[in-house]
Amino acid sequence: MDLGELQKFVENLLSDNIVYAPMKKEAKVFVSPINNFAEIDWTSELPANSFKSVFLPPEEILWKNAGKKFKTAFASKKTIALAMNVLDLQAFTLFEHVFEKDIYYQRRRQNTFVVGFTAGLPDDFRKYKIFHADYEENVLEHLIFDIFIEKQKNGNFIFFSGSEKGQKLLEENNVKDYEHIEFAGLVPESGMNPRLIANRKAVELSFNDKLWDELAEICLACGKCSVVCPTCFCFNLEDDPQLNGVERKRQWTSCFYPEFSKICGNKKELAEVKKKLYFWYYHKFVRIPEELSYYGCVSCMRCFNVCPVGINIAANLQRLAKNQQK
Ligand code: SF4
Ligand code: SF4
Repeated sequence: MDLGELQKFVENLLSDNIVYAPMKKEAKVFVSPINNFAEIDWTSELPANSFKSVFLPPEEILWKNAGKKFKTAFASKKTIALAMNVLDLQAFTLFEHVFEKDIYYQRRRQNTFVVGFTAGLPDDFRKYKIFHADYEENVLEHLIFDIFIEKQKNGNFIFFSGSEKGQKLLEENNVKDYEHIEFAGLVPESGMNPRLIANRKAVELSFNDKLWDELAEICLACGKCSVVCPTCFCFNLEDDPQLNGVERKRQWTSCFYPEFSKICGNKKELAEVKKKLYFWYYHKFVRIPEELSYYGCVSCMRCFNVCPVGINIAANLQRLAKNQQK
């Protein structure tokens, strides 16, 4: 498929859906709702923000009641997450497992098409300087998507389907030339990625490493890192009483926020910044891999890019691994 045909395909999608895609604004790429094909950035540069809010909005009403009537999970509009880079697809694949039984997430997902994109593998992985995994040939088999588009060196585009829903959308749009990729589970046959195992080992028993004390000295516990992180999914539930009833809301939260670990008696498990930092890394590099054999971090470096004091997750992992060898 050439650029003109891709344009026709995307314009068809735009006529009937809300489409989120990477677009360039003032020299940076952002994920944003788009109005036309020309706005889309097809370089596979990592956007400053991720696609997280398409699947898990910063705030949503789960249900509300008025008198004796309850209204649950308001239907979402038909949406396309278009040109999702491979790292954001890995984060989305994690969400698909974490929210597998969450009816509110699933209802939104039913109305959402996920269209991945690469400007070429493994070049994109090299460009992203990933530290969470070693590149594996069969990376697409372990990602969840409906459609995946790959830009070839000659400037043409090839299509893959990853679900029946994706196949249907391609057929409806007269895209007949595509290959189907069956999802082969989170873990490759060869076993967990060695880098995932190494990072887990580096973090698991590191609480007494002096790195955490040093970071706690400078970290402001502002939570910007977890807001921007595509794999952070912690949320608060809040009941908002109104004149005629009540609304239950779900809102993003962060383990860096003061209320996060508060329990009865006003006790907080994560009262000190050192504990917050360690907990954040532990969740990503130990607990998620332990529970799902999958990545809790996808090397996007957005946390570093927004951190007001420059805390660098890749450098910290390296240092923890090195200190362990001493
Ligand atoms: S963004 Fe930086 S300063 Fe803020 S909580 Fe995260 S690590 Fe700490
Ligand atoms: S690099 Fe930082 S922002 Fe990106 S996935 Fe890992 S922890 Fe989250």
